[in-house]
Amino acid sequence: MQNITIPEGAKIEDYKAYGSLNHLVHQFLEQTKSSIQSLKGSTIWMINSTATGGGVAEMLPSQIRIMRSLGVNIVWLVIEASDNAFFKLTKRIHNAIHGSGDGVFNEADRTIFEKVNAQNIDAALNFIKDGDLVVIHDPQPMPLAGMIAKTRNVKLVWRCHIGLEEHNTTTKGVWSFLSQYFEAYDHFVFSIPSYVPDMIKSKTSIITPAIDPLSHKNRILHTDKCLNILLQSGIISGRKPLLHDVFQHQVRRILPDGSFGEVNQTNPLDIIYRPTITEISRWDRLKGFKELMDAFISMKQNNENSGDRSSENYQRIKVTRLILGGPDPAFVADDPEGEEVLNELIEQYKNIDPDLQNDIAILLLPLDNPRENALIVNALQRFSNIVVQNSLQEGFGLTATEAMWKQRPVLVSGAAGLKFQVEDSVTGRINEDPTDIGQLASKLEQMLNKPKERDNWGFNGQLRVIKNFTLFSQIESWLSVLSDVKQ
Ligand code: UDP
Repeated sequence: MQNITIPEGAKIEDYKAYGSLNHLVHQFLEQTKSSIQSLKGSTIWMINSTATGGGVAEMLPSQIRIMRSLGVNIVWLVIEASDNAFFKLTKRIHNAIHGSGDGVFNEADRTIFEKVNAQNIDAALNFIKDGDLVVIHDPQPMPLAGMIAKTRNVKLVWRCHIGLEEHNTTTKGVWSFLSQYFEAYDHFVFSIPSYVPDMIKSKTSIITPAIDPLSHKNRILHTDKCLNILLQSGIISGRKPLLHDVFQHQVRRILPDGSFGEVNQTNPLDIIYRPTITEISRWDRLKGFKELMDAFISMKQNNENSGDRSSENYQRIKVTRLILGGPDPAFVADDPEGEEVLNELIEQYKNIDPDLQNDIAILLLPLDNPRENALIVNALQRFSNIVVQNSLQEGFGLTATEAMWKQRPVLVSGAAGLKFQVEDSVTGRINEDPTDIGQLASKLEQMLNKPKERDNWGFNGQLRVIKNFTLFSQIESWLSVLSDVKQ
């Protein structure tokens, strides 16, 4: 069990000084006073399975930093697991909660699940004292609650970040496997009401995931800073400013033969001069990368076959590029499928026409250096004309919220979480079926050819994020849920 150090970051005063957030912060400070008071004397332990990669690791540092600055005693612990079978199993559980796979889990699975958690219990008990509150995130550390409750008088909350709107035999199977652990929990938190299994509905609160507008991932980057980041990380080539913000890592790119190389070794990305479509996510089949690449190719081929070559639209589509970005699988501990999915994508990439290969960049981001990774994601999203999240299933896609905050128009699938975040034709577009390549290609083309609408959608998107999806609304909900649970 690792106690994760929270990096320095923006302070309450910084948010107050940021024009569009000032009012929000004042309201937040008023509304959280009594719950902060009632949490005094308890430590809140946030426990999950990874310190890097994915939405949970993205949100916890800012939440914890702000809560601490308000006087809340809160710590982030990450379970240790070296057993590949454990993460294979928890990935199957994760997929099944999203309705994919057969949903069949047996006693051998349970043994693996509980063994790794049991290996973490002594370390957990060294930290946790009577009267504390423990929040366990997602399925991986779920069995810990029952083990903690045996010797500690604490309140236990399970925070599930994933879900599926309609329940099917797969979700029924996985919930039946997990239901045995529900009993140890006092309360549950989900992102959207329809994800909650019936048997725990009466003990569940809804908290919407949110972004930190001033984190490295989201803070304003003026053009010179953005360019500097893209230069330093090797994504674009050019003269680098002297001794200023030297990056530890160069972003790697998949080369046409499927090998890994530095981006500007063969072909720097001129994303500044060309319309750019971007999706950045974990390498997960449910993120719809493969379908997006197919749709991009289809859009390009339609343009060549039937576009009017003298038109502006033809020219625009012709020079558009696609960036697919995701973590270097070597740095992601809890996602064994990541490398497999990346390899599938590489195979697909190797087999496409060389001209089109040139228009598509598969980038591996340095997730082992959270600051560099965040700045690169920030710059890539800001330089994108459309940010796509083509998820087959999505509990709630932080990537869409990140892009909306940056006034980027988004194109998302009809996955429940994304539909909750994005208003069709107001803050971007929704393409209902992420596997319908023809529809996806035509939505991409329509968006590319509507620059004015794109600006409006981007503008509306930022307002929607300020109203609903910043860490202040999220922390306010957490403080209220935790103080209620403590009573
Ligand atoms: N992310 C990142 N680098 C990557 C891929 C993803 O920093 O190479 C971040 C992304 O910006 C977002 C988070 O990981 O903040 C993913 O959260 P989301 O809710 O979109 O999906 P999840 O991974 O939780 O399914």
